[in-house]
Parts: sequence; C-alpha cells; structure tokens
Amino acid sequence: MYKQVINKLYQELKNIKYNGEIASYIPELATVSASKFGIYLADISNNSFGIGDFEEKFSIQSISKVLSFCLAYKNLGEAIWTRLGVEPSGSAFNSLIQIETNNGIPRNPFINSGALVICDILISILKNPREEFLEFCREASNNNKIYYSEKIAKSEKSVGYRNIALCNLIKSFGNIKNDPNDILDFYFLVCSIELSCKDLAETFLFLANYGKNPFNNNIILTKSQAKRVNAIMQTCGLYDESGEFTYKVGLPGKSGVGGGIIAINPNNYCIAVWSPVLNKKGNSCKAMDFLEKFTTETDLSIF
Ligand code: GLU
Repeated sequence: MYKQVINKLYQELKNIKYNGEIASYIPELATVSASKFGIYLADISNNSFGIGDFEEKFSIQSISKVLSFCLAYKNLGEAIWTRLGVEPSGSAFNSLIQIETNNGIPRNPFINSGALVICDILISILKNPREEFLEFCREASNNNKIYYSEKIAKSEKSVGYRNIALCNLIKSFGNIKNDPNDILDFYFLVCSIELSCKDLAETFLFLANYGKNPFNNNIILTKSQAKRVNAIMQTCGLYDESGEFTYKVGLPGKSGVGGGIIAINPNNYCIAVWSPVLNKKGNSCKAMDFLEKFTTETDLSIF
C-alpha cells in the first residue's frame, strides 16, 4: 500500500514549483538543485521503498540534532534536563532573544541553542566527540559510509555569525562549560553530515522500534527514552511550525535547512523526504506537502 501511495504522490508533486527558497545563508547549500526530490520509507519488518533522488546524499543539517541529543541523553539520562527544556520554542530556530529571556537555558534540544548545549555536553563526556558521534550514527544505521562534510562545515563556519553569537551568549549565562570555539566547530560538523533519504530513514528506524536497532537488536535507547525523543520531535521538531506539522501530518518529525524531513510512525515505519526549497520557517515546502498527503491517504498517523 505504501508503495502505491508514495508512487502516486511522487508523480503528482514532482513537477510542482513551490513558492520558497533554497537555504543560501550557508553558501555551500545554495549550490544544490531546487528540483531534487527523493523519498524513502523503511519499516521495522524490513520492508522498504524509495523513489526519485532517494539515494543521493544531502546535508541533513538540523536533523542531526536528534542524533546528537540521543547520544547525550543515552549517556546522561534525565540529568540532562538541568541544562535545557522540552518546550516548543515558538520562535525562529536561531533566536537570540529567547536565550536572553530564558537566562541561557534553551527551550529544547532541537533548536540551535539547545543543540549547542548538547554539543557542549558531548565534548565534556566523550573522549573523542567527533569520532564517537559519527560512530553512533554509523551503528544506528548499520552503515559505515556516513561522513561529515568538512566543506559544508567550513562554509557554515565562514558565515556562522548568529551561532557564534548564540554560543557566546549561552556561555555568558554559564550554560556552556567548554571553549565556545570548540563547541562551534563540533556543532558545524554535526550539522554537516550527509545522508541520502535511504540512509536517513534507516538511521532513524530505532526510534520507530522502541529504541532498539532493528538491524541487530542492540538497545540504542530505552523504550521510555525513545518514547520521549519521539514526543520532543512531535512538539519541537519543525521549529515554530511544529504545531502545523502535527496538525497536518500527525507524526513526530524533524526538519533541516538542507530540505530534508524525517518522520516516524512508532512501531511501524520511518519516512525520509528531501526537496531543498524551503518555506519562510525553514522547512521543505514539498516534503511538508508530501507528508501531509501521505498520512492522509494511507490513513495512518499516531492520532
Ligand atoms: N546548521 C544550521 C544552522 O545552524 C542548521 C539549521 C537547521 O537546519 O535548522 O543554522
């Protein structure tokens, strides 16, 4: 059934031009073709289906915030919540005002301020954060061909003024423990990971499988932790469009300014959609539209 619906919607949406822009504030992202469109669904019973540019790697950007959070949460457990919250931000993903009003405590781990604090935590608790984070992604996806893009990280760093400001602002409140330059270098690297829709759906499948790696049954997160990560994705995964995404799609999700969106149907499947043209909130126009139609036509969401 999925295959048929995905195929039909792909044909329907393929040539539609949405009113939006490719993220150009990171120069390297602006080089991607606007017409890219890929979809991949993987379920926990080993069925899968992909169409379009689903095997082409793209910059996952903020989608990686879920993975860096999972690694920190796995290590720290509930103690992590002294450093950040679980409330939707209701403002832009790179808001400085919110950090000022919240005394350096980010609203959630999926906005930039929260992800910077998570990078700080990982730098404090891991011996080799870069290698260990990559290893965590590779293990989750059962795929050794996952890499950072040094080129994209460098490109973002060259214009990363807001993130540099954010990191320093949080540091001024004492909620960054390490050197802001080290946090920022690691943060840009984490954002630069490149995955295809296929890689992405496979990497996130453990969140559809109660925290267990579906490829080898290893426990990545406890059942309760996986539930909570899905809950935060539901309420905070699409910046200040998380309410709209919940309303239209009805699944936990996470977007990135590279144009990807991952959505999870717990105990069922993971679906990754990529199309680089973004709306004003920074979410992929076509991926949002596709997922809304997909959950409507399959009549399957968590609500
Ligand atoms: N690296 C991007 C930034 O910090 C991530 C933004 C995103 O994908 O939402 O601006």
